[in-house]
Amino acid sequence: MDKCSFCGRTKKEANMLIAGLEGHICDHCIEQAHSIMNEELGSKKNVQFDTINLLKPTEIKNFLDQYVIGQDMAKKIIAVAVYNHYKRLMQKPDAEDIEIEKSNIILVGETGTGKTLLARTVAKMLHVPFTIVDATVLTEAGYVGEDIESLLTRLLQNADYDVKAAEKGIVFIDEIDKIARKGDNPSITRDVSGEGVQQGLLKLLEGSIVNVPPQGGRKHPEQKMIPVDTKNILFICGGAFEGIDKKIAQRLNTQIVGFGASKIREKVDKDNLLQYIAPQDLRSFGLIPEIIGRLPILTHLNPLDRAALRAILTEPKNALVKQYIKLFKMDNIDLTFGDGVLDYIVDKAIEFKLGARGLRSICETIMLDAMFEMPSIETNELEITIDYANRKLERINLKVLRAS
Ligand code: ADP
Repeated sequence: MDKCSFCGRTKKEANMLIAGLEGHICDHCIEQAHSIMNEELGSKKNVQFDTINLLKPTEIKNFLDQYVIGQDMAKKIIAVAVYNHYKRLMQKPDAEDIEIEKSNIILVGETGTGKTLLARTVAKMLHVPFTIVDATVLTEAGYVGEDIESLLTRLLQNADYDVKAAEKGIVFIDEIDKIARKGDNPSITRDVSGEGVQQGLLKLLEGSIVNVPPQGGRKHPEQKMIPVDTKNILFICGGAFEGIDKKIAQRLNTQIVGFGASKIREKVDKDNLLQYIAPQDLRSFGLIPEIIGRLPILTHLNPLDRAALRAILTEPKNALVKQYIKLFKMDNIDLTFGDGVLDYIVDKAIEFKLGARGLRSICETIMLDAMFEMPSIETNELEITIDYANRKLERINLKVLRAS
């Protein structure tokens, strides 16, 4: 009679018996084997985590330097925060009474200055699950949009549903400024996208057990929620906080009064007020104090000047120019950029206020025809001159680029 070669259950005793070459296995044993395997793999992952080679803050910054131009302050702060995050995770719970608290970060900087790039680059070198989510899609429970909990769905997915690993991960929340309270009086109308979402987010930032929908959204109401403890998850938030410079200026003006005021005022760099950002400015902008309190590390990104934009074209490890050269190389074409053409591209990006984000759109516009035609033409050289670039750009309306 057929029976399970592992436990001896007969066909009648088991729900299912699967035949192999020389034996059988029943559903009970399959499940048991599966859980043993998961446990084994899980513990291996943890061992790996405990013994990872911890990069020192200066090494983290060096790594970031390869991909991100400038933004030294933000890099330094992130390097320390990530390093401390690891140390915090490795601390032995019973060693001492001192508990290292986590330090969530908030990055403030104009759009296209490298906030997401910094987060992505951190992710590249990390050994913990990482995800980037957009705060604009979040709404309070019960409204159209994503529940706050779904922030963690992607993290879980990136951790292959290994809850323990996800609980040590890093979440980058982009466009956090979009959930600021609009206006000073929130009670007139119900502020669907503002304060309620902040309250919800607070729960995650503080550290609590959150029930996460494994597939996200509300499309699968029948899905079983997975409890995730956010106590050890590091949150990095980013936002442009458009108009916050006015709040900073106001504050600086009221602070700088009295003897010697004019001297101090002279020293204030009016072109880059973001560097003076302080938590109370976030509050004036519409973030609730509790949220600000949970994001103790506040730093800014500088606007990118001409030199930075020029460097972005050629210097980072995967700089745009390097990418195009590589693309053409694959078709055996030597691509070169003529004198001054890169400066010309930077000029255009500045002229149309497109910032770093625009460099790519401009390059794409210039390169499109060549990328389309060259692979079918018998040639192995292409030089992009200012004249060539100008001709390609003339045909399109750069305002369209600005909108993108
Ligand atoms: P945001 O600050 O809006 O998150 P991103 O990080 O998404 O801006 O930047 C958009 C693009 O611009 C990036 O993909 C990158 O190509 C380029 N970029 C922006 N800032 C930098 C920088 N400091 N160094 C190198 N590239 C940058």
